[in-house]
Amino acid sequence: MYTVTDPATGVLVEEVPNSTEAEVQTAIGRVHAAYPAWRARTVGERAAIVDRAADLFEERADELAAIMTREMGKRVNEGLGEVGIVVDIFRYYAEHGPTLLADEALDVKGGQAVITKGPLGPLLGIMPWNFPCYQVARFVAPNLVLGNTILLKHASICPHSAQAIEDILHDAGVPEDVYVNTFASSRQIPGILADDRIVGVSLTGSEQAGISVAAEAGKNLKKTVLELGGSDPLIILDTADMDETVNATATARMRNCGQSCNAPKRIIVLADLYDEYVDRLSKRVAEYYVPGDPADPDTRLPPLASIAAADEVAAQVAKAVEQGATLKAGGRRIGPGAYLEATVLTDVRPGTDAYYEEIFGPVAIVFRATDEDDAIRIANDTPFGLGASVWGTDPARLRRVADRIDAGMVYVNRAGGSQADLPFGGIKRSGIGRELGPAGIEEFMNHKSIRL
Ligand code: NAP
Repeated sequence: MYTVTDPATGVLVEEVPNSTEAEVQTAIGRVHAAYPAWRARTVGERAAIVDRAADLFEERADELAAIMTREMGKRVNEGLGEVGIVVDIFRYYAEHGPTLLADEALDVKGGQAVITKGPLGPLLGIMPWNFPCYQVARFVAPNLVLGNTILLKHASICPHSAQAIEDILHDAGVPEDVYVNTFASSRQIPGILADDRIVGVSLTGSEQAGISVAAEAGKNLKKTVLELGGSDPLIILDTADMDETVNATATARMRNCGQSCNAPKRIIVLADLYDEYVDRLSKRVAEYYVPGDPADPDTRLPPLASIAAADEVAAQVAKAVEQGATLKAGGRRIGPGAYLEATVLTDVRPGTDAYYEEIFGPVAIVFRATDEDDAIRIANDTPFGLGASVWGTDPARLRRVADRIDAGMVYVNRAGGSQADLPFGGIKRSGIGRELGPAGIEEFMNHKSIRL
């Protein structure tokens, strides 16, 4: 069942039944049948449709932001910001698609070859609730320009986001069978992946879902892209302005109520700044992040996406404290909605759960590092490898540290965000493959070698 429960109140708003097995089969048949005609269109034609989709996302930004607030509790301003990035992503692939897909001439031993860049076929996308529009855009915009067709299964708490996105794409001119939304359940995914008509899958979600989808895809020899969890380090080497550093890092951690894959979940501060940073961060978090209605533009701390999510994060915090962590701010679950106070933890030691887990909520963990090497050691002491950021005043030192961090992305003096033209993705248990930028259109591409 797809369900909408207002995260601000915990009240069940609506239930949408899952697609039946017959409906899933019909949906697979549609994206399969639509593929030959879609790939036969010129790149320019497909890019023009994707550009029109950008216009419609822009026009319907208020509507989309309101849906996200209702379904997963996103602050309305953040919802508008999210749609802004979606527009950028659709525009980026509309504009650059034709160049990115141009044939590449290659001098080879004894003659000439050409590499053509074509689609693979119908793809399955499985998407999470934390950025209901942005996650879909990262997968859909490049693949539509490339010529793949798409069956999309969104998170089961986001049925209206899913529907609104499908409406925009169809209204923009994407043929109805080229992009098909399904309300399949995750139990139906193995059957979809075993179907020969689906040639690849992209999942953005948790490590557990990634393991399960990768296993099914592997059994069926299907190409996968996995964008999974993270516990990104943020290293503070030094600062010229502590207030600015505290505010910027707190904002980065609390964005989207802490439910961003690449939020700085572990803040690592060199010993000489540590005490001052922890004091000021704790004060900032306690005073500034006041819980409120996510529909109110002045709200600073919205609810988490669901009661279950809030309970889980609260339990992780309680366990961390039980295992020896110090609670410097927050930590209390607030009902009846899915609220958790913005929280700061210190003294999280190796060997405890919180040291290794992803905490997907408004919880900052601060670590003390003795020096630069120690900071890098702590940063890399994680099963994840999504993003990271390094803060300080010496460009050479910042670059040196950035080079030694094991992650798919490192940001310097800015917290991990996302932009259309910059590849996004992780290593280690954070995933396989890249989205966005030039790399994002290559994942489900047939680089065909033609030896002339
Ligand atoms: P999730 O529970 O894994 O769900 C993500 C999607 O996968 C949903 O559509 C879900 O369907 C589906 N799903 C869950 N289990 C599945 C299974 N066994 N087989 C097939 N599909 C399955 O993740 P979430 O809680 O929505 O999202 C939070 C996680 O996503 C965090 O770990 C976060 O870091 C990660 N994330 C990563 C990125 C990135 O770019 N690396 C971006 C955003 C989020 P149902 O809703 O029906 O269960």
